[in-house]
Amino acid sequence: MDRRRLDAAQAAVRSHGLDALLVGPSADLRYLVGYDAHAMERLTLLVLPGEGDPWLLVPELEAPAARASGADQLVELRSWDETEDPVALVARELTDPAAPGAVAVSDRLFSVFTLALQEALPGTGFRSGGPVLRALRIRKDPAELVALRAVGAAIDRVHAEVPGLLRAGRTEAEVARDLGELILSEHDEVAFIIVGSGPNGASPHHAVSDRVLAPGDAVVVDIGGVKDGYCSDMTRNYAVEHLPAGYAELHAVLEQAQDTAVRAVAPGVPAAAIDAAARDVISAAGYGERFIHRTGHGIGVDVHEDPYIVGGNEELLAQGMAFSVEPGIYVPDRYGARIEDIVLVTEDGAERVNHRPRTVLLAG
Ligand code: ZN
Ligand code: ZN
Ligand code: ZN
Repeated sequence: MDRRRLDAAQAAVRSHGLDALLVGPSADLRYLVGYDAHAMERLTLLVLPGEGDPWLLVPELEAPAARASGADQLVELRSWDETEDPVALVARELTDPAAPGAVAVSDRLFSVFTLALQEALPGTGFRSGGPVLRALRIRKDPAELVALRAVGAAIDRVHAEVPGLLRAGRTEAEVARDLGELILSEHDEVAFIIVGSGPNGASPHHAVSDRVLAPGDAVVVDIGGVKDGYCSDMTRNYAVEHLPAGYAELHAVLEQAQDTAVRAVAPGVPAAAIDAAARDVISAAGYGERFIHRTGHGIGVDVHEDPYIVGGNEELLAQGMAFSVEPGIYVPDRYGARIEDIVLVTEDGAERVNHRPRTVLLAG
């Protein structure tokens, strides 16, 4: 990592009229200095002033981990020991009694720290840090695009193994254990595993259960991991031995909806138009009521981040944005289906990072 992101963030602090941005353990912290810190009761805080050098406050016992991350190559590392009050230490550095000013706190800083900082800095205005970093994170630089393609290829390889795992008589949980190992063999971390068989597939965020797979089950498999700091997230639908009645027709509609939405992606198109492109196809086929979530979410150092591909979001897509296109159709008590790829916005369209077949694959 180099200082470019920190420089851009400090410029954003100034342009937002702030004195400093305070960043707790989060994807924001990883994005800025490459340190994957524990979010816990001991305060870790990156202090990013508009002017002057940024510094990272860490509990003494976390200092070796912070150094191992290389963050100390980018910012000055300061540690506090168990008997010090870290909030008072930060407040002392930030307080200018003559001009209390305004600071922003990162979205994921625990309220226990935010409230303590507010109390220690009476008169200082507190703002949300999300808007400060948003413009930086929402458009990926070339190195980030490389990372997103690599992690997309990694989850493609995991999906290639799924047909061999889904056999009648196995439980969702058994399949998920195998998936966990496969994800880890291709990533540094498992982010999440959804194996929604039969009626469980009708719940979009069902995780796993002890339900036993049976012939004729449709199975929604939505999995993701983290590799070199960037996330994968990919959904395909499978069927054990044969497709349940009506599923082929439903799935054909979904394939068309997903493809239509991906083809609609281009710089200058509002995010809401991508959602509408998928929804129009599904509604025209009579499944409109069954598509119960937004079409997608941005992805990068977080699995879910800006831009959200949802009705009402008139934000214009721009080259370098990365997000999921994942329409779904859910039939309660029977089955569900969702097709999800991550796409990168190019100069004139979209590039998918996931390439596995989007049809229902037979397993078992
Ligand atoms: Zn989701
Ligand atoms: Zn997903
Ligand atoms: Zn997703």
